[in-house]
Amino acid sequence: MSNKFYITTAIDYPSAPPHIGHVYEKVCADIIARWHRRIGDDVFFSTGTDEHGQKIQKCALSSGKKPEEFVERMSKRFIDLWAKLNISYDSFIRTTQKRHEEIAQNIFKKIYEKGDIYKGLYEGLYCVDCEAFYTEKDLLEGICPTHNKKVEKIKEECYFFKMSKYQDKILEHIRANKDFIQPETRRNEIINRIKEGIRDLSVSRSSFNWGIPLPIDEKHIIFVWFDALINYISVLGYPNKEFRKYWPADIHLIGKDILWFHAVVWLAILLAADIELPRKIFVHGFINIKGEKISKSRGVVVDPLELVRKYGTDAIRYFLLREIRFGEDGDFSEDALIKRINDDLANDLGNLVYRTLTMIEKYFKGYVPRAEIIDKKWEQNIDNFSREVDLHMSNLDFNLALDGTWELINLANKYIEDTKPWNLTKENKTEELKSFIRLLVDVLREVADQIYPFMPQTAESIKDQIGKDKIKKGKPLFPRVDLKGIS
Ligand SMILES: [Zn+2]
Repeated sequence: MSNKFYITTAIDYPSAPPHIGHVYEKVCADIIARWHRRIGDDVFFSTGTDEHGQKIQKCALSSGKKPEEFVERMSKRFIDLWAKLNISYDSFIRTTQKRHEEIAQNIFKKIYEKGDIYKGLYEGLYCVDCEAFYTEKDLLEGICPTHNKKVEKIKEECYFFKMSKYQDKILEHIRANKDFIQPETRRNEIINRIKEGIRDLSVSRSSFNWGIPLPIDEKHIIFVWFDALINYISVLGYPNKEFRKYWPADIHLIGKDILWFHAVVWLAILLAADIELPRKIFVHGFINIKGEKISKSRGVVVDPLELVRKYGTDAIRYFLLREIRFGEDGDFSEDALIKRINDDLANDLGNLVYRTLTMIEKYFKGYVPRAEIIDKKWEQNIDNFSREVDLHMSNLDFNLALDGTWELINLANKYIEDTKPWNLTKENKTEELKSFIRLLVDVLREVADQIYPFMPQTAESIKDQIGKDKIKKGKPLFPRVDLKGIS
């Protein structure tokens, strides 16, 4: 029987079109999902859009649209981009879907009936962009540090979730499970924050209406974060359907800015609703552009669609995972991308494929030869790399996995240069030549398997070109990019 594996990404807030940071997270999750499918796991991979809240309502208003129309149009941009990037999710959840709203209301009601939600009065400083309340000490002279914007003073009647009640349980869980929050620096950060105290959370709003009505009080809507986090179980059809099979999540993949909501708020919701806790929260880093934080207002952006159009899906996917150590911040620049395409993809990988196919055409009329002599040392090599790469993949060390694959590719390229196959033909060493070619084909099959999660189209193209008996040589996998030719 195969293992189940459930991976989620954060659901994106579609107040603006997707940027490279959104792309990075979805590509990482897709690579994990594809690798688990490759090793035979029964995978469920979810993503989606988080469509309620005051900011969406304001954005819709300023673009002259109803919130419903606005989110319909914006979520489509995410869906279209994921299609272009080959993101193989199993379900895309939108928090405005009925399937989500009903479950969010059920969870709210369940927690209310348990006595963990109560009515009170809230006075606080609120950042609309964060959709979160702040205390004076979190702010820089009344300015939200994330958005560089003045927060609003809000006073309203609302419902509170007794999150403080779960402080000890949450802390205990994080401490007892060493790998529950990764990387370790994030784990330590959150432990320290929890030790400062968890306060009850205001979980309803009545000053605007773009949200899910409270099942117990129609004048209020559910706080957008409380609503959004529930996507991880509503997408599975809690408490039935896929929920029984796939919950708990094996990995919640998120950015570092929303760790508190996942490690504290989400855990408290689950504990209050008597639902098993997820197995792991993995916190990825942020992508900067040429050393600067992504910012639309300052023009520090790259358009992912434009990148895909110029360089192709697989090159972008490869670059993001090769260049950035998973869990750390990384940098994007077009120059670095072009260098990776030319050096790693066109040169190392592309040449190995091209040379191997060319030799099969030249020496064996396009038929992959059968070999009598088996090169034991090389077979061992391939096995070792295969094990090493799988180990790195299971540890989520993607750049190390790619290092391993490229070591194998370069070893094979060097083997071609050292063996000098043209001499083997001159000396009539046909059996040696057959064995040599056979080995290169085995290397290519292994390389295709290893790069499949990162570059699915390229992997399939390699396998397709090698064929079963007769090769089908295509165009070069990655044409070199001329730096000057790029506009
Ligand atoms: Zn803010």
